[in-house]
Amino acid sequence: MAHHQFSQSVETFIGDAAQYLALPEGLAERITQCNSTYTVRFGVKLRGRIFSFEGWRSVHSEHIEPAKGGIRYAPDANLQEVEALAALMSLKCALVNVPFGGSKGALKIDPSEWTEDELERITRRFTQELARRALIHPGRNVPAPDMGTGEREMAWMADEYRKMGHADALNSLACVTGKPVSRGGIEGRVEATGRGLQYALRAYLAHPATPMIAGRKSLKDMTVVVQGFGNVGYHAAKFLREDGAKIIGIVEHDCAIFAPAGLDVEAVAAHRRATGSIMNFAQAETRTADEGLTYMAADILIPAAKENAITEANCDLVNYALIVEAANGPVSAGAEQILTQRGITVLPDLFINAGGVVVSYFEWVKNITHLPFGLMDKRQKAHTGGVFAAALEQVSGRPLTDAMRLEITRETSELDLVRSGLEEIMVRALDDILARHATLPEASLRTAAYAVSIARIAEYYRAIGL
Ligand code: GLU
Repeated sequence: MAHHQFSQSVETFIGDAAQYLALPEGLAERITQCNSTYTVRFGVKLRGRIFSFEGWRSVHSEHIEPAKGGIRYAPDANLQEVEALAALMSLKCALVNVPFGGSKGALKIDPSEWTEDELERITRRFTQELARRALIHPGRNVPAPDMGTGEREMAWMADEYRKMGHADALNSLACVTGKPVSRGGIEGRVEATGRGLQYALRAYLAHPATPMIAGRKSLKDMTVVVQGFGNVGYHAAKFLREDGAKIIGIVEHDCAIFAPAGLDVEAVAAHRRATGSIMNFAQAETRTADEGLTYMAADILIPAAKENAITEANCDLVNYALIVEAANGPVSAGAEQILTQRGITVLPDLFINAGGVVVSYFEWVKNITHLPFGLMDKRQKAHTGGVFAAALEQVSGRPLTDAMRLEITRETSELDLVRSGLEEIMVRALDDILARHATLPEASLRTAAYAVSIARIAEYYRAIGL
């Protein structure tokens, strides 16, 4: 079964990395399993009757609290999937060095079947159930958006949590991340995963230790196919295009569109807003969803939908030089082995899509400090810039151009700070992966990334005496 395959993949990946590490006996097993998974079933009165819902919140590791990770709304959500995703969150947070354990949640629901009011009532009930068990809690477990959820759901959760009344009411805003900016969120959280992917991919391509992809060291003129046009896929496509890549295909659940000359990502998004699908986008050829991953070869594939997009069943037919895992778990362990033999490189999910949780970390810090980023030194910096500009003019004896002066004295916005912090973290994580990889030349980049994470988690355990 597909969800079994996903958890088995994660288990295989952990085992592959553990063999290179001198871990205490039994620790690899501990890291493979989740600490606990809570299953909740609750009824909500809607449309004149009671509807039952089933959901989960799994805590993979509490070696650092709070545990962190999204909540997805999907009709095929299940316990095994949630547990595998929670394990990935622990590894992801360790890789990018954000001080969280790993968690994940899901509600088995098709959001398109319910009105906004109904979804709000369901979400508020779900929040109550989780909050009662500290599975939503600023210091213990902090959910975020995932597939099928977004700012709206996070705002409902934060509001419901606040209404329930807590001893630590001061920090209640920090109970979830991914909130709207007007409700305690942070600039740049919505774009964060796509933006992080852009920084990660740029840094990977440009790095002196990495091989050329399609004869190049940058995204300029690279051809890209994106699978999944949700929040992550849309932003990834948009930002890579800004870097000069050509998005030649977008694959969705109901169809795929291709245009060898490159798609106008904003126009595709507008078409979908107007018609509900990317199907029949005028400047492209529409194919079936099944053909999506194999119809056209490209330099880069970005699977940004869900787990097991590429398995042993279809990997022989995919034709890309580089696969960049924007989703969690899109390439199965079996498929990765075959792809590697074919010389196809996979950039692993725990690195590539970590931008989401990184900016969630910034949001959480903003909430618990109760101080907007950049407030204290904003004027100080503008003043220093002004002094610097005047000094330059005096020493050089020439006036600065308006553009120069503006650039030197420009105020730093929250978004500037978020992007700068995110880029720093992504570049550092890449350096850590590549340094580890240099000592394990036979291993995949995924194994190197897992090794970095597992070694860090093991170190935490060692330090607390477990
Ligand atoms: N759901 C996202 C992920 O899989 C974000 C998690 C978070 O921000 O806590 O990484």
